[in-house]
Amino acid sequence: MNDTTPAVRFTDVSRYFGEVKAVDRLNLDILDGEFFTLLGPSGSGKTTCLRLIAGFEQPTAGSIQLHGVEVAGVPPYGRDVNTVFQDYALFPHMTVGDNVGYGLMIRKVPKPTRNQRVSQMLDLVQLTGLERRRPAQLSGGQRQRVALARALIVQPRVLLLDEPLGALDLKLRQQMQIELKAIQQRVGITFVYVTHDQEEALTMSDRIAVFNRGKIEQIGSPAGLYEHPATTFVAGFVGTSNLISGPLAQRLTGSSHTFAIRPEKIHLQAPEKPAPDGACAIAGRVRDVIYLGLNTRYLIEIEGGKDLTVIEQNLTTTSMDVLAARGRAVLCVWDASHNRPLAASA
Ligand code: ATP
Repeated sequence: MNDTTPAVRFTDVSRYFGEVKAVDRLNLDILDGEFFTLLGPSGSGKTTCLRLIAGFEQPTAGSIQLHGVEVAGVPPYGRDVNTVFQDYALFPHMTVGDNVGYGLMIRKVPKPTRNQRVSQMLDLVQLTGLERRRPAQLSGGQRQRVALARALIVQPRVLLLDEPLGALDLKLRQQMQIELKAIQQRVGITFVYVTHDQEEALTMSDRIAVFNRGKIEQIGSPAGLYEHPATTFVAGFVGTSNLISGPLAQRLTGSSHTFAIRPEKIHLQAPEKPAPDGACAIAGRVRDVIYLGLNTRYLIEIEGGKDLTVIEQNLTTTSMDVLAARGRAVLCVWDASHNRPLAASA
């Protein structure tokens, strides 16, 4: 075993439930110390993967290694991993301090050491001073921090997090995303994070695996996935994409092969103004305008009755200006270098 041994390695791993292929011949390496996210829609196999790593499920086929060691038959408590669940699973009758120190208590760590470590952990998650409260006396965000501290105190080599922020409101979730990432960097433990929220995945992860029907469609960095989606599924699931294919693609690119163009890359201009040389251009009519404060989302009806989504920043325009665009004829223009050819999804 050396530094390049992955924290988690799946080799041809499948987990079937009767006819359902929850996880289907998966190959995956998660590197030591990385913040790795399993992203995908409901039912795509993310939680099953996490449970396979934790040892709550056994593979139907294939092999799983943790830090270079095959873990077939190793029970959950024999693996150097810990899990944070969405519902926190805190002990309601215990104080925050006892909840956080629980893992050390059952390992018979002496009380003075335990208390010191509990304080360190509460510092880490910014809950200093709340040791004596009970879970019912905390906010949702504070409970999630207690759950995190309780999981980290036993110093697992891999921390598994299953939609841990799902129960929080948007503002708090965004704040906790930044904090979780900072905590992960400070402790240096491998985090394997499950979410169906692409924005959350883009915010926190070093790398993301995009799941679809038990398979991984693409693995990459947030910027890599966003800028170079490989399949139609990834282009649609990570951010928003316009997919163009058939005769229209042929006319714009010389090939009928499907390609994606991001809404923010398209610029709207007056139809009489010529498009720059070499640019892609499609005439259309503004079917709908959604004013979002920071930017505006336009739905442009183009040939064949298709809609193109275009997002423009409201740098100098007001809501009055943008809303008045409804019904107007426009030319949608973009630089051809932003076109991303796609493979069909599995
Ligand atoms: P979600 O985001 O909704 O949690 P997910 O991507 O985590 O979804 P999984 O929970 O891994 O998906 O489920 C993958 C598939 O396996 C689903 O079709 C699910 O119904 C099925 N499945 C999961 N666990 C079991 C089980 N114990 N028995 C039968 N089917 C199961």
